[in-house]
Amino acid sequence: MKNFFTILLILTIIISFPLLNVNAREGEQQNIYRIRMGLFKNIETIYQIPWYYLAAIDQFERSIQPVRKDIPEKKGLIAIYFTKEKWAGLLHPDPDDQNPGRIQFFNGFGVDGNGDGKANRDDDLDVLVAFSNFLLRYGTTEQAIINGLKEYYNEQSAKIILEMAAIYKNYNRLDLTGRVFPIPRWFNYSYQSTWGDTRGWGGIRIHEGTDIFSSYGTPVRSVSHGYVEVLGWNKYGGWRVGIRGLNNIYYYYAHLSSFKKGLKVGDIVKPGDIIGYVGSSGYGPPGTQGKFPPHLHFGMYKYNGRYEWSFDPTPYLRLWEKNQYSKR
Ligand SMILES: [Zn+2]
Repeated sequence: MKNFFTILLILTIIISFPLLNVNAREGEQQNIYRIRMGLFKNIETIYQIPWYYLAAIDQFERSIQPVRKDIPEKKGLIAIYFTKEKWAGLLHPDPDDQNPGRIQFFNGFGVDGNGDGKANRDDDLDVLVAFSNFLLRYGTTEQAIINGLKEYYNEQSAKIILEMAAIYKNYNRLDLTGRVFPIPRWFNYSYQSTWGDTRGWGGIRIHEGTDIFSSYGTPVRSVSHGYVEVLGWNKYGGWRVGIRGLNNIYYYYAHLSSFKKGLKVGDIVKPGDIIGYVGSSGYGPPGTQGKFPPHLHFGMYKYNGRYEWSFDPTPYLRLWEKNQYSKR
């Protein structure tokens, strides 16, 4: 049965992607997205695992590798990474073994997904099929996939992968990388680097963000594609929105005077979508306003699969601002 699936998979991919090996590595980015999507769609056809979960798992791993010392940045189309030991089996005497039968005997994740007789953890198809086999132990319903992801990663990572999957599903494409400045260009505002200051509004220990001063009611836009993870009152942040993007970055928008009408947790946004309006809420019980001048507190936090930390958004703001003015 497994062999049948493998052959079917190879045939489907050969038929749909004659250029796979020729163009994948040096092809331009759009081509990479197209081929990567093709791989996900083929796996979906054969394994009944919706493509957007595979896309989210792949993107989750891609976005943690640059900030993890214990994981290399994986080359190739698919970023899902297995350690030698995980691939070959923890008790396997030869962690470099590529023999599918022996790997199976030692309970490794490794499989031959592309039909070349080897279970190669650097091969995109072998890796995708290996992860799919793991998920299939749980099933293909959303709840089954959640359970599988929790088991493989951890609770927080599983939650984030599901949010990413919701974004991919909503837009039905993989190229969702653009970002914009949070304040539209035709409004007055000013800011300087205030991240890490010991004084400032919105932080608890150090100032975990950049304050962008503007007038009451100035629209605040989502800087990226994302999933609305948090929306409501926070003692320090006032009316605030937290949006998770596709790079494992959490964007935090605080001190709003109000939210965009109808915006709620679970909504999907794109760069430029209005999420709320500048205000001076916070530093007290719900509704407290005016304890400081109106501004947007904008924070960025990176998650590496284990924990999250704040970093300085100012260089990004400068870049997005520059792009905003260079566009006609
Ligand atoms: Zn602030």
